[in-house]
Parts: sequence; structure tokens; C-alpha cells
Amino acid sequence: MSLEGRRHRSCTGKVKHLDWWTANEAIRDLTRRGRVEGRMNAYHCRFCLTFHIGHTRRQPERQSMNDADIEAMSRAKGLTAPRVTPAELRDNIVHTTIVKHIAESGQVLRWAVLTTRSGFAVTGRPSASVSSENDDVEIGERVAIDNATAELWPLMGYALRERLAREPIAHVKDNNQPGWLNIVETAPHVTLPVGTPLFGG
Ligand SMILES: [Zn+2]
Repeated sequence: MSLEGRRHRSCTGKVKHLDWWTANEAIRDLTRRGRVEGRMNAYHCRFCLTFHIGHTRRQPERQSMNDADIEAMSRAKGLTAPRVTPAELRDNIVHTTIVKHIAESGQVLRWAVLTTRSGFAVTGRPSASVSSENDDVEIGERVAIDNATAELWPLMGYALRERLAREPIAHVKDNNQPGWLNIVETAPHVTLPVGTPLFGG
């Protein structure tokens, strides 16, 4: 297929979502309203650099590529100040339990309980099919995990902000971007390059 053909197929006329999470929220919303037939996934558009949703023919490679896309975009835009990265979020989940409940009506509800490194456990809204005959273990568990993960982002953001507020922050000049002031986190896992002048050098 020509490049124009690909653009027409994967980009033209599609709703632009600013990030992968918003795009997935749109899929969940469509799913909740029964507007999705087959399987949909979010993808990073190489033409307009936003995220679209579309039907998949092959199994989507869940999260790994999309996380990488987001991380790559953040780095490309120089947005490397302290933040919670998808990798940190993933690493923080040490255990996932799916709690399944079948209601009197036969409707299946699933909650994901994510246990974090600190031992704090998080859950989100349950996943549920409007029609129980549409219930699918894989989809139900994915939605439940996505819902729980959505709750973890703000908690980890808050924890990081608290830590940054307590810890001394070094303002250093980024050697790669002269004239730019970057805030570098002095947490133990961040290694400053040897010879980095602290406090403005
Ligand atoms: Zn596009």
C-alpha cells in the first residue's frame, strides 16, 4: 500500500487522542455503550503523532509498545523532569489478583487488586459486560487491570511529589541543551554524570 493509502487508512478522519491512556478510555467508553464490535486498540499514529483507536486484526501487543512510544515522545520533547514513567508504574506492581463476582442476574464483575512494592494495594472500578454472554475472561481482566492502574497513577504521582518536596533538589545545567535549566532529581536511583556542576556550576 502507498504511503498516502496508509495515511488514509490509519489517520485521515480519525479522532486524535493526546495520549495512549485517553485513547484507551475512549475504547472503554465505546465498549460500555455497546458500540464496539470485535476488538479495538489504541495506536500511535506516525502521521500526526497523536493516538487513534481502530480495529485490530492481530493481537495487540499490550502496553509494551505503547509505553515505549510515550516514553520516547516524552524524551524527544525533553520532558525528562521527575515524573512517574510507565516502567516505574509497571515495576511498582508486584502482585495482581483478579477478584471475580457473579451477580444474581448472572452479570460478571471483575476487580483487579494491584499490590505495590510498599505493600499498599489498589483497586479500580470493576469490569462488567452489559450482556453476560459477551463476558470474556481476557477482556474482562484487561479492563479491570486498566481501571486499577488508572487509580495507581495519581497515587504514585502524589508520592513522588511528596518525596521531591522533602528531598533537596539540585538545579543543574543540562550539558546537552545549553541554556536550559533542568531539574534533576537527587533520589538514589538517579546518577548524575561525573563532573556535573551542582547549583548552577
Ligand atoms: Zn493520525
